[in-house]
Amino acid sequence: MKRGDLPGKGEHDMSDPIPWSGGGLLEEVRKRSGTEVGACFQCHKCSTGCPIGPDMDYLPSQIMRLVHLGAEKEVLDSHAIWLCASCEACTARCPMAIDIAGVMDALRIMAIDRRIVLPDSRGKQFHRSFLGSVRRHGRVYEMGMMTAYKLRTFDLFSDVDKVPQMLAQGKLSLLPNRSGDMKQLRETFRRAEEED
Ligand code: SF4
Ligand code: SF4
Repeated sequence: MKRGDLPGKGEHDMSDPIPWSGGGLLEEVRKRSGTEVGACFQCHKCSTGCPIGPDMDYLPSQIMRLVHLGAEKEVLDSHAIWLCASCEACTARCPMAIDIAGVMDALRIMAIDRRIVLPDSRGKQFHRSFLGSVRRHGRVYEMGMMTAYKLRTFDLFSDVDKVPQMLAQGKLSLLPNRSGDMKQLRETFRRAEEED
């Protein structure tokens, strides 16, 4: 599969066997995330609760498995780690108390450390939408963020059937909640733009 091709729904072609490459990656992710990622037993609860899963090349549980296999290239090249919105729905569902959102954070930092280029297209668009939402509301306003992301990727109507269920489960809110010190947040964004 070429970079930029997005199978979505975690439908990455897993038919090519990925050999076990030692425990180095697992150990690094464990140290960087501060969570016992090795305890994952592939129950898939994280994947079924992930609101971004339909757009990911690897679902959160598949990312965990790839980390176990030491498949560094597959993990750090994946779109999934950039699409993750850090909503922590997965972390809340994990029966082994693994901080999966923290693992995704650690993997993004590892990709940046290794100078792996941010995947084009959807990953970048998602992060622009995510940061735009935080800048305006002081936290992620999921409905606004998803609408901005869909508009930017010209993909407004896919997954629209999932919205009622997500609203019912409290994963989406129709109205934004402002929180935190907005003045300080704007100052943080201004400084980050100056440093950029
Ligand atoms: S934190 Fe990331 S991986 Fe976990 S449920 Fe949210 S979007 Fe999915
Ligand atoms: S919910 Fe936890 S144990 Fe289950 S697949 Fe996800 S990380 Fe692994």
